Amino acid sequence: MRLLLIFNFNMSDKKLQIIPLGGLGEFGMNSMAVRYGDDIIVLDAGMMFPDAELLGVDIVTPDFNYLEQNAAHVRGLILTHGHEDHIGAVPFLLAQIPIPVYGTAFTLALVERRLEEHEMLDEAKLHTVKPGQKLQLGPFAIEFIHVTHSIVHCVALAITTPLGVIIHTGDYKVDPTPTDNELFDLHTLAEYGKRGVLLLMSDSTNVDRPGYTESERAVGPRIEDLFVRSPRRLVISCFSSSIHRLQQILDFADEYGRKVAFIGRSMINTSEIAHDLGLLRIPNGILLRPQDLMQTAPSKTVAIVSGTQGEPMSALSRVAVDNNKHLSIEPGDCVALSARIIPGNEKAIYRMINHLSRRGADVVYGTMNPPIHVSGHGSAEELRLVLNLVRPKYFVPIHGEYRQMARHAKLAQHLSYLGLEETFLLESGDTLEIDSDGARKGEPVTVGRVCIDSGTLDEVVEDIVIRDRRHLSEDGFVLPIIAIDKHTGHCEGLPEIVSRGFMSMEDGSTVMQEARQLVMKTLDSSTPEERSDWGVMQEKIRADLKRFLIKQTSRRPLIMPVILEV
Ligand SMILES: [Zn+2]
Ligand SMILES: [Zn+2]
Repeated sequence: MRLLLIFNFNMSDKKLQIIPLGGLGEFGMNSMAVRYGDDIIVLDAGMMFPDAELLGVDIVTPDFNYLEQNAAHVRGLILTHGHEDHIGAVPFLLAQIPIPVYGTAFTLALVERRLEEHEMLDEAKLHTVKPGQKLQLGPFAIEFIHVTHSIVHCVALAITTPLGVIIHTGDYKVDPTPTDNELFDLHTLAEYGKRGVLLLMSDSTNVDRPGYTESERAVGPRIEDLFVRSPRRLVISCFSSSIHRLQQILDFADEYGRKVAFIGRSMINTSEIAHDLGLLRIPNGILLRPQDLMQTAPSKTVAIVSGTQGEPMSALSRVAVDNNKHLSIEPGDCVALSARIIPGNEKAIYRMINHLSRRGADVVYGTMNPPIHVSGHGSAEELRLVLNLVRPKYFVPIHGEYRQMARHAKLAQHLSYLGLEETFLLESGDTLEIDSDGARKGEPVTVGRVCIDSGTLDEVVEDIVIRDRRHLSEDGFVLPIIAIDKHTGHCEGLPEIVSRGFMSMEDGSTVMQEARQLVMKTLDSSTPEERSDWGVMQEKIRADLKRFLIKQTSRRPLIMPVILEV
């Protein structure tokens, strides 16, 4: 009896720590470490797309320094779902510490594709899990709970630790009528709530919206309307991972006798993955090869194209400036953007819509009823439902800017009469520690952003991690400055190139001369429409110049093209 008591005392002597590495107080790059004693598990490893002020880098990931320093204790990486803001940094994390990865089949298929691009697939230890399955990693017993979201195969995590149960929701909405009929497993969540939950961490993205988010099925009537009304070719763009959306488009295409072509690398890959896993039903004989699209009667076709966010090198952006191999917009075509405008991308997206409209397309985008897009994140009432089912002792709002997490904390206030002892607002780098005496904020850890320059988005990514610090200190930066005449659209003289920390003037003078010629060549070989689109031109110049400089000097300076209108 006495021994047992001592044993118990030892068990609860250890601390439980919650260590957000990204995604709290900022949008994107979700990642979090959970530590009990010395044992650590990592939940998600996401990326974010850089803001305009970070021009010159392709993606941004969390700084995994904390995990690297504790590498011997990290038991594994657990993924909630396959969106980029949850899996985009997996290759970079695995390059630092090669830990096993656990996720659902679709999530891991998307991870595999990224690892393959980095030639890391062979070494990776990927383990497929299913909702309802339990996994033991050191002192953590993890159960996967199916939740509904805009992507398939999405799970929440119930992590049983010696101090109690942690529920991490991942991203979710409570979709009452999911297109694949896989309901949110509210029962299991409620079971945990009944037995007692120590800590809930829940998605705050849409806390500002009152009521309920609409079901994925709500876009059905709008998509059907497009099929009914469009006399000519229908072009629909959505996120390639929105399998629910792809399914609805395929089903209507079948019903209305149109053939479907997938355009864009990610669209082709993802639809193939989903089909292989039995998650996407493709009606017999409905697919059209991209190269056959323009040879088929417009009224008998629909193209599903990637690139809703106006990314300069994406398929839809290229279509917009008539620079896509397989699809050319003709007057009277209908182009529908079935996605949300991610804040920060407005300019690029509206520029793309301008181009499409100029080509005579009828562009369908924005808010309308019935909707052309619905959010994948739960609104206030859904968040409240989850709070009420789980009834945690402690609550940490996650995934959101500070204002959203603060609002989510407010939403939980009524639970103080129902067992909620405290809500903690944490930002990336803050920590929460829980022991047998209670919960409190702990020592902060070093976090940060790592900028990764991986080449153009449609090129195979060849290298692993280049920290911007190292990048700048070792390889310097290069600023091509291009002056374009406002009236003629032509380049004024040879472009200037300014560099710092890259090459001395003597060493670099020939290379720089050739580089200036190269920039000129890139400009000359572009169409007038591309030239009028600075986003596209910056990206093209950066890509060409980067290839050239690596070849000539084996160095990778940060390249930031500047275009001036004179
Ligand atoms: Zn998501
Ligand atoms: Zn997310």
